[in-house]
Amino acid sequence: MRVRDRALLNRRLDGLGTTIFAEMSALAVATGAINLGQGFPDTDGPEAVREAAVRALRDGRGNQYPPGAGVPELRTAITDHQQRFYGLEFDPDTEVLVTAGATEAIAAAMLALLEPGDEVIAFEPFYDSYAACIAMAGGVRVPLTLPAPGFRPDLDALRDAVTPRTRLLLLNSPHNPTGMVLTADELTAIAELAVERDLLVVTDEVYEHLTFDGAAHTPLASLPGMRERTVTISSAGKTFSFTGWKVGWVTGTAELVTAVRTAKQFLTYVASGPFQYAVAEALALPDSYYHAFRDDLQAKRDVLAAGLTEAGFLVHQPQGTYFITTDIAELAPGTDALAFCRALPERCGVVAVPNSVFYDHPTAGRTQVRFAFCKQQDVLREAADRLRKAFSG
Ligand code: GLN
Repeated sequence: MRVRDRALLNRRLDGLGTTIFAEMSALAVATGAINLGQGFPDTDGPEAVREAAVRALRDGRGNQYPPGAGVPELRTAITDHQQRFYGLEFDPDTEVLVTAGATEAIAAAMLALLEPGDEVIAFEPFYDSYAACIAMAGGVRVPLTLPAPGFRPDLDALRDAVTPRTRLLLLNSPHNPTGMVLTADELTAIAELAVERDLLVVTDEVYEHLTFDGAAHTPLASLPGMRERTVTISSAGKTFSFTGWKVGWVTGTAELVTAVRTAKQFLTYVASGPFQYAVAEALALPDSYYHAFRDDLQAKRDVLAAGLTEAGFLVHQPQGTYFITTDIAELAPGTDALAFCRALPERCGVVAVPNSVFYDHPTAGRTQVRFAFCKQQDVLREAADRLRKAFSG
Protein backbone atom coordinates (compact mmCIF):
# COMPACT_ATOMS: atom_id res chain seq x y z
CA MET A 1 0.00 0.00 0.00
CA ARG A 2 1.32 3.42 -0.87
CA VAL A 3 0.59 6.02 1.73
CA ARG A 4 -0.42 8.64 -0.78
CA ASP A 5 -2.86 6.47 -2.66
CA ARG A 6 -5.46 8.13 -0.58
CA ALA A 7 -5.75 11.70 0.71
CA LEU A 8 -3.43 12.42 3.63
CA LEU A 9 -6.05 14.39 5.50
CA ASN A 10 -8.66 12.35 7.29
CA ARG A 11 -11.87 12.60 5.32
CA ARG A 12 -13.76 13.98 8.31
CA LEU A 13 -11.55 17.08 8.11
CA ASP A 14 -11.78 17.36 4.35
CA GLY A 15 -12.62 20.88 3.25
CA LEU A 16 -12.00 22.52 6.61
CA GLY A 17 -8.82 24.20 5.35
CA THR A 18 -7.38 27.14 7.29
CA THR A 19 -9.69 28.97 9.68
CA ILE A 20 -11.01 32.27 8.46
CA PHE A 21 -9.55 33.93 11.57
CA ALA A 22 -6.02 32.80 10.72
CA GLU A 23 -6.45 33.83 7.08
CA MET A 24 -7.79 37.27 7.88
CA SER A 25 -5.36 38.03 10.71
CA ALA A 26 -2.48 37.06 8.40
CA LEU A 27 -3.92 39.42 5.80
CA ALA A 28 -4.07 42.19 8.40
CA VAL A 29 -0.41 41.68 9.27
CA ALA A 30 0.64 41.48 5.61
CA THR A 31 -1.21 44.67 4.65
CA GLY A 32 -0.86 46.63 7.91
CA ALA A 33 -4.64 47.02 7.95
CA ILE A 34 -6.79 47.64 11.03
CA ASN A 35 -7.87 44.18 12.15
CA LEU A 36 -11.58 44.09 12.93
CA GLY A 37 -11.68 40.45 11.80
CA GLN A 38 -10.59 37.95 14.45
CA GLY A 39 -12.21 38.74 17.78
CA PHE A 40 -9.52 39.81 20.21
CA PRO A 41 -9.23 43.06 22.18
CA ASP A 42 -6.46 45.54 21.45
CA THR A 43 -6.06 46.29 25.15
CA ASP A 44 -5.26 43.67 27.77
CA GLY A 45 -7.53 42.97 30.71
CA PRO A 46 -7.14 44.35 34.27
CA GLU A 47 -3.62 45.08 35.45
CA ALA A 48 -4.30 43.32 38.76
CA VAL A 49 -5.12 40.13 36.88
CA ARG A 50 -1.97 40.37 34.78
CA GLU A 51 0.01 40.86 37.97
CA ALA A 52 -1.69 37.83 39.49
CA ALA A 53 -0.37 35.76 36.59
CA VAL A 54 3.15 37.14 37.09
CA ARG A 55 2.95 36.41 40.80
CA ALA A 56 1.77 32.85 40.21
CA LEU A 57 4.57 32.26 37.76
CA ARG A 58 7.22 33.75 40.09
CA ASP A 59 5.87 31.86 43.11
CA GLY A 60 6.03 28.61 41.20
CA ARG A 61 2.29 28.05 41.18
CA GLY A 62 1.18 26.26 38.04
CA ASN A 63 4.60 25.96 36.42
CA GLN A 64 4.28 22.19 36.61
CA TYR A 65 1.24 20.18 35.54
CA PRO A 66 -1.77 21.45 37.44
CA PRO A 67 -4.42 18.89 38.48
CA GLY A 68 -6.36 17.42 35.56
CA ALA A 69 -9.62 19.09 36.53
CA GLY A 70 -7.96 22.47 37.10
CA VAL A 71 -6.43 24.09 40.20
CA PRO A 72 -8.82 24.09 43.19
CA GLU A 73 -8.67 27.90 43.48
CA LEU A 74 -10.04 28.28 39.96
CA ARG A 75 -12.65 25.56 40.28
CA THR A 76 -13.97 27.24 43.39
CA ALA A 77 -13.91 30.65 41.71
CA ILE A 78 -15.95 29.21 38.82
CA THR A 79 -18.59 27.74 41.12
CA ASP A 80 -18.70 31.02 43.09
CA HIS A 81 -19.23 32.88 39.81
CA GLN A 82 -22.09 30.60 38.72
CA GLN A 83 -23.71 31.08 42.12
CA ARG A 84 -23.15 34.87 42.24
CA PHE A 85 -24.50 35.66 38.78
CA TYR A 86 -27.04 32.91 38.17
CA GLY A 87 -27.81 31.22 41.49
CA LEU A 88 -26.48 27.93 40.07
CA GLU A 89 -24.84 25.56 42.54
CA PHE A 90 -21.99 23.30 41.43
CA ASP A 91 -19.56 21.20 43.40
CA PRO A 92 -16.03 22.45 42.63
CA ASP A 93 -14.61 18.95 43.11
CA THR A 94 -16.86 17.01 40.78
CA GLU A 95 -18.89 19.40 38.64
CA VAL A 96 -16.23 21.69 37.14
CA LEU A 97 -13.54 21.08 34.57
CA VAL A 98 -10.93 23.63 33.48
CA THR A 99 -10.03 23.41 29.79
CA ALA A 100 -7.64 24.97 27.28
CA GLY A 101 -10.13 27.66 26.34
CA ALA A 102 -13.72 27.08 25.36
CA THR A 103 -12.34 25.59 22.15
CA GLU A 104 -11.04 22.51 23.94
CA ALA A 105 -14.21 22.27 25.98
CA ILE A 106 -16.29 22.14 22.79
CA ALA A 107 -14.01 19.53 21.25
CA ALA A 108 -13.95 17.38 24.37
CA ALA A 109 -17.72 17.60 24.76
CA MET A 110 -18.29 16.44 21.19
CA LEU A 111 -15.73 13.64 21.44
CA ALA A 112 -17.16 12.53 24.77
CA LEU A 113 -20.86 12.66 24.04
CA LEU A 114 -21.22 11.62 20.40
CA GLU A 115 -21.20 8.26 18.69
CA PRO A 116 -20.60 8.23 14.94
CA GLY A 117 -23.85 9.07 13.17
CA ASP A 118 -25.38 10.98 16.07
CA GLU A 119 -27.11 14.16 14.94
CA VAL A 120 -26.22 17.51 16.45
CA ILE A 121 -28.56 20.43 15.91
CA ALA A 122 -26.91 23.86 15.85
CA PHE A 123 -28.09 27.26 14.73
CA GLU A 124 -26.11 28.68 11.85
CA PRO A 125 -24.15 30.80 11.27
CA PHE A 126 -22.02 28.91 13.78
CA TYR A 127 -18.61 29.44 15.24
CA ASP A 128 -16.22 27.59 12.98
CA SER A 129 -14.96 25.02 15.47
CA TYR A 130 -18.46 23.55 15.88
CA ALA A 131 -18.51 21.99 12.43
CA ALA A 132 -14.94 20.74 12.84
CA CYS A 133 -15.51 19.23 16.28
CA ILE A 134 -18.77 17.54 15.33
CA ALA A 135 -16.99 16.13 12.29
CA MET A 136 -13.98 14.92 14.28
CA ALA A 137 -16.35 13.09 16.63
CA GLY A 138 -18.10 11.46 13.65
CA GLY A 139 -21.33 13.32 14.33
CA VAL A 140 -23.72 14.69 11.74
CA ARG A 141 -24.50 18.36 11.99
CA VAL A 142 -28.01 19.54 11.39
CA PRO A 143 -27.92 23.29 10.81
CA LEU A 144 -30.89 25.55 11.38
CA THR A 145 -30.53 28.96 9.84
CA LEU A 146 -31.06 32.05 11.98
CA PRO A 147 -32.84 34.36 9.55
CA ALA A 148 -31.80 38.00 9.09
CA PRO A 149 -32.80 40.50 10.27
CA GLY A 150 -33.04 39.70 13.94
CA PHE A 151 -31.52 36.23 13.69
CA ARG A 152 -34.20 34.82 16.01
CA PRO A 153 -34.35 31.02 16.11
CA ASP A 154 -37.29 29.34 14.42
CA LEU A 155 -38.53 27.17 17.26
CA ASP A 156 -40.97 25.22 15.11
CA ALA A 157 -38.15 24.34 12.75
CA LEU A 158 -36.10 23.29 15.77
CA ARG A 159 -38.85 20.98 16.94
CA ASP A 160 -39.20 19.52 13.45
CA ALA A 161 -35.45 18.96 13.18
CA VAL A 162 -35.32 16.58 16.13
CA THR A 163 -35.22 12.95 15.02
CA PRO A 164 -34.61 9.68 16.88
CA ARG A 165 -30.94 10.13 15.96
CA THR A 166 -30.64 13.58 17.56
CA ARG A 167 -28.19 13.34 20.44
CA LEU A 168 -27.64 16.94 21.35
CA LEU A 169 -28.29 20.60 20.76
CA LEU A 170 -25.20 22.76 20.46
CA LEU A 171 -26.21 26.29 21.40
CA ASN A 172 -24.42 29.61 21.62
CA SER A 173 -25.88 32.67 23.29
CA PRO A 174 -24.89 35.49 23.15
CA HIS A 175 -24.35 34.37 19.59
CA ASN A 176 -21.22 34.77 17.50
CA PRO A 177 -21.34 36.19 14.83
CA THR A 178 -24.87 37.69 14.85
CA GLY A 179 -24.95 39.16 18.38
CA MET A 180 -28.35 37.56 19.02
CA VAL A 181 -29.15 36.83 22.68
CA LEU A 182 -31.76 34.13 23.37
CA THR A 183 -34.83 35.48 25.21
CA ALA A 184 -36.47 33.92 28.25
CA ASP A 185 -39.28 32.56 26.06
CA GLU A 186 -36.86 31.05 23.56
CA LEU A 187 -34.82 29.45 26.33
CA THR A 188 -37.97 28.03 27.87
CA ALA A 189 -39.12 26.54 24.57
CA ILE A 190 -35.69 25.02 23.95
CA ALA A 191 -35.55 23.59 27.46
CA GLU A 192 -39.02 22.07 27.16
CA LEU A 193 -38.08 20.46 23.87
CA ALA A 194 -34.83 19.08 25.30
CA VAL A 195 -36.69 17.54 28.24
CA GLU A 196 -39.53 16.20 26.08
CA ARG A 197 -37.19 14.61 23.54
CA ASP A 198 -34.54 13.68 26.10
CA LEU A 199 -31.68 15.59 24.45
CA LEU A 200 -28.33 16.63 25.80
CA VAL A 201 -27.47 20.31 25.40
CA VAL A 202 -24.03 21.85 25.10
CA THR A 203 -24.20 25.61 25.56
CA ASP A 204 -21.36 27.90 24.64
CA GLU A 205 -21.69 30.96 26.87
CA VAL A 206 -18.29 32.59 26.33
CA TYR A 207 -19.99 35.98 25.77
CA GLU A 208 -22.13 35.67 28.91
CA HIS A 209 -21.05 39.06 30.26
CA LEU A 210 -21.11 40.89 26.92
CA THR A 211 -24.76 41.90 26.66
CA PHE A 212 -26.17 45.33 25.86
CA ASP A 213 -29.23 47.55 26.17
CA GLY A 214 -30.41 45.68 29.25
CA ALA A 215 -30.43 42.25 27.54
CA ALA A 216 -29.48 39.68 30.15
CA HIS A 217 -27.81 36.35 29.71
CA THR A 218 -29.55 33.38 31.30
CA PRO A 219 -27.72 30.05 31.34
CA LEU A 220 -29.87 27.26 29.94
CA ALA A 221 -28.75 25.10 32.88
CA SER A 222 -30.82 27.30 35.19
CA LEU A 223 -34.12 26.28 33.55
CA PRO A 224 -36.29 23.45 34.91
CA GLY A 225 -35.03 20.00 33.95
CA MET A 226 -31.88 21.35 32.32
CA ARG A 227 -29.21 21.00 34.97
CA GLU A 228 -28.94 17.24 34.49
CA ARG A 229 -28.69 17.41 30.69
CA THR A 230 -26.63 20.55 30.04
CA VAL A 231 -22.91 20.99 29.59
CA THR A 232 -22.19 24.70 30.09
CA ILE A 233 -19.03 26.13 28.57
CA SER A 234 -17.38 29.47 29.16
CA SER A 235 -13.97 31.08 29.04
CA ALA A 236 -11.88 33.87 30.51
CA GLY A 237 -10.82 35.10 27.09
CA LYS A 238 -13.76 37.39 26.39
CA THR A 239 -14.83 38.43 29.88
CA PHE A 240 -11.36 39.47 31.01
CA SER A 241 -9.68 40.33 27.68
CA PHE A 242 -6.99 37.66 27.86
CA THR A 243 -7.76 35.60 24.79
CA GLY A 244 -4.20 34.27 24.61
CA TRP A 245 -4.30 32.63 28.02
CA LYS A 246 -6.74 29.96 26.88
CA VAL A 247 -8.45 29.32 30.16
CA GLY A 248 -11.92 27.90 29.68
CA TRP A 249 -14.23 25.72 31.73
CA VAL A 250 -17.14 23.33 31.79
CA THR A 251 -19.82 23.05 34.45
CA GLY A 252 -22.42 20.31 34.66
CA THR A 253 -23.39 17.26 36.66
CA ALA A 254 -20.56 15.01 37.84
CA GLU A 255 -21.63 12.45 35.24
CA LEU A 256 -21.42 14.91 32.35
CA VAL A 257 -18.21 16.54 33.57
CA THR A 258 -16.59 13.13 34.02
CA ALA A 259 -17.49 12.23 30.45
CA VAL A 260 -16.05 15.46 29.07
CA ARG A 261 -12.94 15.11 31.22
CA THR A 262 -12.35 11.61 29.88
CA ALA A 263 -11.91 13.07 26.40
CA LYS A 264 -10.18 16.27 27.54
CA GLN A 265 -7.42 14.44 29.43
CA PHE A 266 -6.17 12.96 26.17
CA LEU A 267 -6.28 16.23 24.25
CA THR A 268 -4.09 18.52 26.37
CA TYR A 269 -4.39 16.78 29.74
CA VAL A 270 -3.89 20.24 31.32
CA ALA A 271 -3.00 23.77 30.21
CA SER A 272 -2.30 27.35 31.27
CA GLY A 273 -0.99 26.56 34.81
CA PRO A 274 -0.13 30.03 36.22
CA PHE A 275 -2.96 31.66 34.29
CA GLN A 276 -5.46 29.47 36.09
CA TYR A 277 -4.56 31.20 39.37
CA ALA A 278 -4.90 34.61 37.75
CA VAL A 279 -8.31 33.79 36.28
CA ALA A 280 -9.44 32.66 39.74
CA GLU A 281 -8.71 36.21 40.92
CA ALA A 282 -10.37 37.71 37.85
CA LEU A 283 -13.63 35.83 38.42
CA ALA A 284 -13.77 37.24 41.94
CA LEU A 285 -13.60 40.86 40.72
CA PRO A 286 -16.50 42.96 42.01
CA ASP A 287 -19.67 43.45 39.99
CA SER A 288 -18.40 46.92 39.12
CA TYR A 289 -15.72 45.38 36.89
CA TYR A 290 -18.28 43.40 34.91
CA HIS A 291 -20.59 46.42 34.57
CA ALA A 292 -17.85 48.80 33.49
CA PHE A 293 -16.55 46.30 30.95
CA ARG A 294 -20.00 45.88 29.44
CA ASP A 295 -20.69 49.62 29.36
CA ASP A 296 -17.36 50.28 27.69
CA LEU A 297 -18.10 47.66 25.02
CA GLN A 298 -21.57 49.01 24.43
CA ALA A 299 -20.11 52.45 23.78
CA LYS A 300 -17.65 50.87 21.33
CA ARG A 301 -20.48 49.04 19.61
CA ASP A 302 -22.28 52.34 19.17
CA VAL A 303 -19.21 54.03 17.70
CA LEU A 304 -18.66 51.27 15.17
CA ALA A 305 -22.34 50.81 14.33
CA ALA A 306 -22.67 54.54 13.60
CA GLY A 307 -19.51 54.53 11.50
CA LEU A 308 -20.55 51.48 9.50
CA THR A 309 -24.00 52.91 8.88
CA GLU A 310 -22.49 56.16 7.69
CA ALA A 311 -20.22 54.23 5.34
CA GLY A 312 -23.28 52.57 3.79
CA PHE A 313 -23.32 49.17 5.48
CA LEU A 314 -26.63 47.71 6.64
CA VAL A 315 -25.98 47.13 10.34
CA HIS A 316 -27.64 44.32 12.30
CA GLN A 317 -27.46 45.78 15.78
CA PRO A 318 -26.06 43.14 18.19
CA GLN A 319 -27.48 42.67 21.68
CA GLY A 320 -24.38 40.79 22.78
CA THR A 321 -20.80 39.65 21.89
CA TYR A 322 -18.26 42.05 20.45
CA PHE A 323 -19.24 41.62 16.82
CA ILE A 324 -21.44 43.52 14.41
CA THR A 325 -22.84 41.62 11.46
CA THR A 326 -23.51 43.82 8.45
CA ASP A 327 -25.01 43.24 5.05
CA ILE A 328 -23.19 44.46 1.95
CA ALA A 329 -25.83 43.61 -0.66
CA GLU A 330 -26.61 47.26 -1.37
CA LEU A 331 -23.14 48.59 -0.75
CA ALA A 332 -21.38 46.18 -3.07
CA PRO A 333 -23.98 44.67 -5.40
CA GLY A 334 -23.06 41.27 -6.78
CA THR A 335 -20.11 40.80 -4.41
CA ASP A 336 -20.00 37.89 -2.00
CA ALA A 337 -18.73 38.37 1.52
CA LEU A 338 -15.58 36.28 1.13
CA ALA A 339 -14.42 38.16 -1.96
CA PHE A 340 -15.35 41.43 -0.30
CA CYS A 341 -13.29 40.64 2.82
CA ARG A 342 -10.30 39.42 0.84
CA ALA A 343 -10.24 42.69 -1.09
CA LEU A 344 -11.05 45.03 1.79
CA PRO A 345 -7.54 45.48 3.28
CA GLU A 346 -6.08 46.54 -0.08
CA ARG A 347 -9.04 48.72 -0.79
CA CYS A 348 -9.12 50.67 2.45
CA GLY A 349 -6.91 49.17 5.16
CA VAL A 350 -9.59 47.37 7.19
CA VAL A 351 -9.98 43.65 7.86
CA ALA A 352 -13.37 41.99 8.48
CA VAL A 353 -14.65 38.42 8.41
CA PRO A 354 -17.20 36.94 5.97
CA ASN A 355 -20.08 35.28 7.81
CA SER A 356 -20.68 33.11 4.75
CA VAL A 357 -18.02 30.68 6.01
CA PHE A 358 -20.08 30.05 9.15
CA TYR A 359 -23.04 28.66 7.18
CA ASP A 360 -23.80 25.36 5.51
CA HIS A 361 -26.64 27.13 3.76
CA PRO A 362 -25.37 28.07 0.28
CA THR A 363 -26.76 31.60 0.18
CA ALA A 364 -28.05 32.76 3.58
CA GLY A 365 -24.82 34.46 4.61
CA ARG A 366 -23.57 35.37 1.15
CA THR A 367 -23.55 39.11 1.79
CA GLN A 368 -22.91 39.18 5.54
CA VAL A 369 -19.69 40.68 6.83
CA ARG A 370 -18.66 40.74 10.50
CA PHE A 371 -16.67 43.49 12.22
CA ALA A 372 -15.24 43.20 15.76
CA PHE A 373 -15.56 46.22 18.04
CA CYS A 374 -13.34 45.11 20.95
CA LYS A 375 -10.89 47.84 19.94
CA GLN A 376 -10.05 51.29 21.22
CA GLN A 377 -12.54 53.92 20.17
CA ASP A 378 -10.04 55.91 18.09
CA VAL A 379 -9.15 52.70 16.23
CA LEU A 380 -12.83 52.07 15.52
CA ARG A 381 -13.27 55.66 14.36
CA GLU A 382 -10.28 55.41 12.07
CA ALA A 383 -11.57 52.14 10.60
CA ALA A 384 -15.02 53.65 10.06
CA ASP A 385 -13.45 56.68 8.45
CA ARG A 386 -11.50 54.53 6.01
CA LEU A 387 -14.64 52.58 5.14
CA ARG A 388 -16.65 55.74 4.66
CA LYS A 389 -14.02 57.21 2.33
CA ALA A 390 -13.87 53.98 0.33
CA PHE A 391 -17.60 53.43 0.01
CA SER A 392 -19.43 56.68 0.32
CA GLY A 393 -16.89 59.04 -1.14
N1 GLN B 1 -13.68 33.62 18.56
C1 GLN B 1 -12.89 34.52 17.79
C2 GLN B 1 -13.76 35.08 16.71
O1 GLN B 1 -14.87 34.66 16.52
C3 GLN B 1 -11.69 33.90 17.14
C4 GLN B 1 -11.04 32.77 17.82
C5 GLN B 1 -10.12 32.02 16.89
O2 GLN B 1 -9.37 32.59 16.14
N2 GLN B 1 -10.21 30.74 16.92
O3 GLN B 1 -13.35 35.95 16.03
